[in-house]
Amino acid sequence: MTPPDDERPLTGGRLDHGSANDADGTRVVRAGLPTEEPYEPPLPGPVFAAHYHLPGEVEDVPYAYGRDANPTWTRLERAIAELEVPGDPDTEVVVFSSGMGAISAVLLSLTRPGRTVVLPSDGYNLLAALRERLENNGVQVRTAPTGGDAQLAELDGASLLWLETPSNPGLDVCDIRRLADAAHERGALVAVDNTLATPLGQRPLLLGADLSVASGTKALTGHGDVLLGYVATRDAELAATVRAWRKTVGAIPGPMEAWLAHRSLATLEVRTQRQAGNALAVAEALRARPEVSDVRHPGLPGDPAHPLASRQMSRYGCVVSFTLPDRAHAERFLARLRLVGEATSFGGVRSTAERRGRWGGDRVPEGFVRLSAGIEDSADLVRDLRRALDEAAPSPAP
Ligand SMILES: *Cc1c(COP(=O)(O)O)cnc(C)c1O
Repeated sequence: MTPPDDERPLTGGRLDHGSANDADGTRVVRAGLPTEEPYEPPLPGPVFAAHYHLPGEVEDVPYAYGRDANPTWTRLERAIAELEVPGDPDTEVVVFSSGMGAISAVLLSLTRPGRTVVLPSDGYNLLAALRERLENNGVQVRTAPTGGDAQLAELDGASLLWLETPSNPGLDVCDIRRLADAAHERGALVAVDNTLATPLGQRPLLLGADLSVASGTKALTGHGDVLLGYVATRDAELAATVRAWRKTVGAIPGPMEAWLAHRSLATLEVRTQRQAGNALAVAEALRARPEVSDVRHPGLPGDPAHPLASRQMSRYGCVVSFTLPDRAHAERFLARLRLVGEATSFGGVRSTAERRGRWGGDRVPEGFVRLSAGIEDSADLVRDLRRALDEAAPSPAP
């Protein structure tokens, strides 16, 4: 079955793509909702269906089999499209079961033997595993760091440029517009991992990227209870390739996950605004401490990434990274926190932090901590951090 090019919501009627003039806070509460119908819910519940009634011809039907399409996905895909490129009915989104499902779909469906891909050397740690897979498939892989737009120097002969900005966990930033222009001059496609920023913090497709890819597990859904991923593009052919990959590999989200994600989008604006404010407050408090070094947050004035981030991002995300003197110091600090849970992942309503070096994948110092600011009261959060730092200080020699 070819993907239907017009998947109308089951409730029928006109679909509101949102006005490009609405502010994000207005857009998120309605994004992807079907036209209001008397006595119908604003956001219809998850559709649990492995198959749909399918009489007669099967060409161009909206819903036939549950691995190909689902009305709950359709609504979520429309919602994310409205956030990635407000007011553009041609932006398409394909949702996946996880961020890695989405990332793999782009990197594996748009490459073939002999092609060259440029990856960041400091991106999400599973890019290393994907690199190996790409090389096993005969794809050449080059890498360069995110900061300083270093990937520019690797573009000759490349067919796909993969950016991650801000990078996780180092929080370096690269110039999407500049890199996209340079890649396009050489005929390469450009994909951006937009997980950290969310579409409210950064709009890669409006900065020249061909694909915006993200894990919805983090700030997009924000409650730490869903794994999800998506690919957004304004190019119908790319969308069809990625959708065909999803169908072949079967990396599909469950209807419940898709519905929870859609429900979470209504609070995306208030969550990300509060989180960005908390992250900045935390970064400033950390910077004032003598035992803390290398405090990084793109919204922090004085951060090396701040000048570029302030041009390209509209909010700076919830992640702060910093380094304590050693592993034991970082472990004491994490154990002393009351409002910040020790956990991986980021972007949730509850603050979390972890010593990133415990995973072994990222090239970071032993005392390196990645903290994700939640939506707690800012003063409470800062007070908790300061107390934990005080209590984590090495006891003076007897
Ligand atoms: C978490 C994360 C991913 C992977 O997403 P999953 O939903 O965990 O598969 C990819 N990229 C970045 C930047 C991430 O933070």
